[in-house]
Amino acid sequence: MTSDTPLPPGSTIGILGGGQLGRLLAIAAAELGFSVHIFAPAGDNPAIGVAEAATVADWLDETALAVFANAVDVVTYEFENIPEETVRRLAEMVSVYPGVNALAIAQDRLAEKTMATSLGLGVAPYAPIDSAADLAAAAVKLTLPAILKSRWLGYDGKGQVLIERPEDTDEAWRIVGAVPAVVESRVAFRTEISVILARGSNGETRAFDIPENRHERGILSTSTVPAAVPVVIGERAIAIAEQIAAALDYVGVLAVELFVVGEGDSAELLVNEIAPRVHNSGHWTSDACLVSQFEMHIRAIAGWPLPDPIRHSDVTMTNLIGADVEGWPELAAERGARLHLYGKSIVRPGRKMGHLNRVTPRRN
Ligand code: ATP
Ligand code: MG
Repeated sequence: MTSDTPLPPGSTIGILGGGQLGRLLAIAAAELGFSVHIFAPAGDNPAIGVAEAATVADWLDETALAVFANAVDVVTYEFENIPEETVRRLAEMVSVYPGVNALAIAQDRLAEKTMATSLGLGVAPYAPIDSAADLAAAAVKLTLPAILKSRWLGYDGKGQVLIERPEDTDEAWRIVGAVPAVVESRVAFRTEISVILARGSNGETRAFDIPENRHERGILSTSTVPAAVPVVIGERAIAIAEQIAAALDYVGVLAVELFVVGEGDSAELLVNEIAPRVHNSGHWTSDACLVSQFEMHIRAIAGWPLPDPIRHSDVTMTNLIGADVEGWPELAAERGARLHLYGKSIVRPGRKMGHLNRVTPRRN
């Protein structure tokens, strides 16, 4: 496929990863007439139930990767903790969007911060950490409390330890697992927002309206649109995401999580992290916009036109975490709400099981 030839309906989209994001992408792909082939290691893979084909194999199974590459027309991924090597191998055989570079940067918190800083963007004050001694030294330089985060494999607040006093550092280093990390000051943000941005291979971008995100115990709890931030703050946030997407030569949907520090038009925006994929804080788009983030991503990687993501409704997305999902009979009956369940077979505390979009007519 070249950038000026859209992938025709009937083509097969390969998705790396079998979780809920893969499932929601697969459904969106089906709505545009594509077939979907999931590649995922053995486990609970709710995406497989809605796809035409699946390869269940290890990320580094070369034979399986070659067979998969041969069976699909384009490859994308639904989460960033896939070995870079897997995507590198596939990219030699088939187009992969977003590319290896975006994956490599987004899976490493240090690379993410280095990139943001090199683009002149604000981030929380931080230091790279490779040893207990590094951490002890950083804890005297940075304003405490600070958060120690493993460089790789963190999600939903996992791999993070709060450091309140300089004498806590040895224990924090032990808890994080003595792995390469970054430590960053805890930011007294006013709100958290994110940008859900789509970018086509021709460099065209489309941004959804900005959601305001609330987290509980490190896990996203709700995303509300419109966000209670001034219009100029939203515009600056989108400009930041566009700058990052351009620097990564990005194709697909990119999410940028930001802290809003201070109030009003002069508030400062700090980049928290980037996700090279559709994002939980964009799940409201399915029911409040003419085109969802999932369809937008499929369109971008297939070289299709990117429509204006017109929002027709105000909305709050609420994650159903762990046992929350057991309330499904009431949630399914709730007026003005749309329930999305992921089909995961096991309920565990902290596990994302579904989400609910509560929609009202758009007021602003
Ligand atoms: P996810 O993948 O769900 O986005 P994650 O595990 O990658 O989460 P982060 O986004 O780094 O983790 O942190 C999760 C949440 O913890 C943030 O959205 C924010 O609410 C809080 N948090 C993280 N870092 C900071 C910080 N430096 N200052 C204040 N709050 C923070
Ligand atoms: Mg995050």
